Amino acid sequence: MSGETAKPSPGPVYLVGAGPGDPGLLTARALELIAEADVILYDRLIPSSALEGARPDAELLFVGKQGGGPSVPQDQTQELMIQRAQEGKSVLRLKGGDPFVFGRGGEEALALRELGIPFEIVPGVTAGVAASAYAGIPVTHRGLSTAVALITGATEKQAQPDWRALAAFPGTLVFYMGIGSLSQIAAGLIAAGRPARQPVAVVENGTLPRQRVLTATLADIAERAEQEQIKAPAITIVGEVAQLAGELEWRREGLLHGRTVAVTRARAQASGLARRLAELGAEVIQAPAIRIEPLPGPPLDPSPYDLICLTSPNGVDALFDRLAAGGRDARSLSGARIAAIGPGTAAALASHGIRADVVPPRFVAESLAQSLRDLKIERALIARAAEARDVLPDALRAQGAAVDVLPLYETVAQPLPQQTLQAAANADYITFTSSSTVRFFVQSAGRTAENAQGLLSPSTRIVSIGPVTSQTLRDHGLPPHVEAHPHDIDGLVEALLAQARGQADA
Ligand code: SAH
Repeated sequence: MSGETAKPSPGPVYLVGAGPGDPGLLTARALELIAEADVILYDRLIPSSALEGARPDAELLFVGKQGGGPSVPQDQTQELMIQRAQEGKSVLRLKGGDPFVFGRGGEEALALRELGIPFEIVPGVTAGVAASAYAGIPVTHRGLSTAVALITGATEKQAQPDWRALAAFPGTLVFYMGIGSLSQIAAGLIAAGRPARQPVAVVENGTLPRQRVLTATLADIAERAEQEQIKAPAITIVGEVAQLAGELEWRREGLLHGRTVAVTRARAQASGLARRLAELGAEVIQAPAIRIEPLPGPPLDPSPYDLICLTSPNGVDALFDRLAAGGRDARSLSGARIAAIGPGTAAALASHGIRADVVPPRFVAESLAQSLRDLKIERALIARAAEARDVLPDALRAQGAAVDVLPLYETVAQPLPQQTLQAAANADYITFTSSSTVRFFVQSAGRTAENAQGLLSPSTRIVSIGPVTSQTLRDHGLPPHVEAHPHDIDGLVEALLAQARGQADA
């Protein structure tokens, strides 16, 4: 190894709370740090979209519990964190809820302090308070409770709690990690003097679309939770405030409440669709079967063209990269008319300061070609994916234009873990937003067009974004149940909702 002198100064390490699950409860500071970090060590109970804003080259290390299995041991996690920090990387340790509330953040901070590695703590919204609030339960309430205690319910791992002290606590008791020991908790509290008729609420998957709230009394909560098969993560709220759950219930159940929807488009593009679906109450299964890879190429000089066609938001971003590579910006496009295939592409252009001159009424190449029919075009540039249909170039050439096709990016397969594939194949709905999502999803499942039939569960509804994707689906023996109108994300969400309403009425 080389000398000690070149060692970068480590840290700071950020110990950050990610909130209880609803991505809206991530703090502004957490989002800022996620966007900057070189390395992110994250737990299981963080919002599923929390890492979307991470740098594409960031190292993302999962250190939580896999399924019901064992967690990465705490000392191994700390070792990783310290090692990366000592390499001079900016390290973010992202935890569910608040890092200092049953999050072992204190231990990690002590280990860092011991080694002289600077750290910063970013508090998070803790589950005990947030899940209560999402269930309509104020943990303190004038006249009902003047104090709140946060308690670990993981009794088996440590000495029996002091039931007498807990029962005598003058306020609300909020138990974390208590589902496995609910009957001991209830019995312990009753034996030590809490009234058996005291209200109790259990909030499972608090703040998430699949949140469930169960209210009962100390006497029967354990039995009820067993009946309802309540599972972790859940918090248990013991106290008079729990009776407000019914009265203050405020979350509207979205139309897709309780439904699972698989999203197969590239992770980088899926966030808008995933967020819309989650807002409607769906549980979103991210199954990105494709990934967008920019193609290398020389800087672009757009001056020879009097028409430039963009066929996707990816193409727009890549086009501006190629312009920038030659020291150019949006001004260099002033000599050309700009056509966008649909509103998503037009919006991507707008974010670069360009208003598209042409957006066709239907968002497919045929419609764009139609919209350009009456223009006098000498030389056109079509900036697009490596693999795409030739409808547009052919149509423009037929109009007498010289056409250059510039492949800017390619869509490549993103292998999916077995677990993800299975979840997607059994979802209530699966969405396909391009032909490549169909092809690569099928490929990822180890199938081909010939034997893709039966890949999805018979109850899974297939939602297609438009006619081209639908044809690809049919070619794979997976005819869509619904097709979006218009052929964009809004249309897709609408189509899915219509299908869900239809099923609800049926
Ligand atoms: N640091 C976290 C708690 C980690 S301990 C925080 O501040 O919230 C893990 C326990 O937190 C779970 O067993 C469960 O009791 C609780 N928990 C975490 N997320 C939850 C959620 N979305 N809904 C209900 N309880 C949750």
